[in-house]
Amino acid sequence: MGCKVCLIRGDGTGPELVASIEKILKAANVDIDWIEVEAGLKCVEAGKPIVPDDTIEKIREVGVALKAPMTTPIGKGSVSPNVTLRKRLDLYACVRPVKSLPGVVTPFKNLDIVIFRENTEDLYAQIEYMVSPGVAHTIKLITEAGSERIARAAFQFAKDNGRKRVTAVHKANIMKIADGLFLRTCERVAKDYPDIEFYDNIVDNQCMQLITKWEDYDILVLPNLYGDIVSDLAAGMMGGLGLAPGANYGENCAIFEAVHGSAPRYAGLNKVNPTALLLTSTLMLGHLGMHDQKKAIEGALDATLAEGTKTYDIGGTASTTEFTDAICSQLKG
Ligand code: NAD
Repeated sequence: MGCKVCLIRGDGTGPELVASIEKILKAANVDIDWIEVEAGLKCVEAGKPIVPDDTIEKIREVGVALKAPMTTPIGKGSVSPNVTLRKRLDLYACVRPVKSLPGVVTPFKNLDIVIFRENTEDLYAQIEYMVSPGVAHTIKLITEAGSERIARAAFQFAKDNGRKRVTAVHKANIMKIADGLFLRTCERVAKDYPDIEFYDNIVDNQCMQLITKWEDYDILVLPNLYGDIVSDLAAGMMGGLGLAPGANYGENCAIFEAVHGSAPRYAGLNKVNPTALLLTSTLMLGHLGMHDQKKAIEGALDATLAEGTKTYDIGGTASTTEFTDAICSQLKG
């Protein structure tokens, strides 16, 4: 019997991306018992909550899930299913590796950064209300405990993986209380890791530094909203959202999901790039201890890209299924 993993097929392009991953994992002889759980627009259409309670319970019981992107209606309607899952399962550490890939031409050579985004607080606490007609408030929630656990996750990762430097990213010059608390907490945690260099940058400067001096950066730790925005910037530096993987970790549970959203415009067109969800899946295989299969799949992906088989978003003409089949051939060959 294989490892149990919950699977959310997602909205928009989610189901076609999941089909690609299933095919590649099968070709790599990955033994997983998928447990399908529901969330997203389908649930709303059926009159259920966007993330039903039994989905939360099942993921909590199994401990690991692979999730394709889900759509959140903009400016109206239900809460984000993605944020709901992260908050209800207390998946506080969103970890997003940003690494150059072979055959993907960008101005940013030798990218190798890991983003640690705090995943449960900040403006994502979803505490919003109208004060009076025409005046809206959103609360930015930062706690010492929340800042401490993401800072520790970043430093511990740096220590365990032989990384040299952690940079905390904030806007404590303006939000002196909330971002000040985040920064002071990172500074305090840094003292427990004397072998790791610690720096901090204001978020706007960090964005500029990333595209001018990316080789100076190693691990970035950020509150939720800056982490969200800088992740997409970094995904662009890799070559686009179709390439950038991610994982959300809590104490007893992890959900693996790509940085990108459901790209609904492309749904059903057999066009989108499965690389981001594939690299997300190999992060999951590492978490499950399947290191040989992880290496084999990443090798097959690198070889496919290096040979020039690419989807539209990175300058190729291959469809999702052609790209998927090329990776499967590399695995079998
Ligand atoms: P998006 O990431 O879905 O798409 C933005 C653009 O990025 C697309 O138009 C496309 O050009 C490109 N892109 C994204 N994924 C790609 C892929 N795999 N291959 C090639 N190109 C790809 O962002 P959006 O359009 O702002 O959001 C669409 C929906 O997704 C919204 O409802 C949003 O709330 C949701 N969303 C979900 C998640 C998640 O599930 N974790 C994350 C971000 C956004």
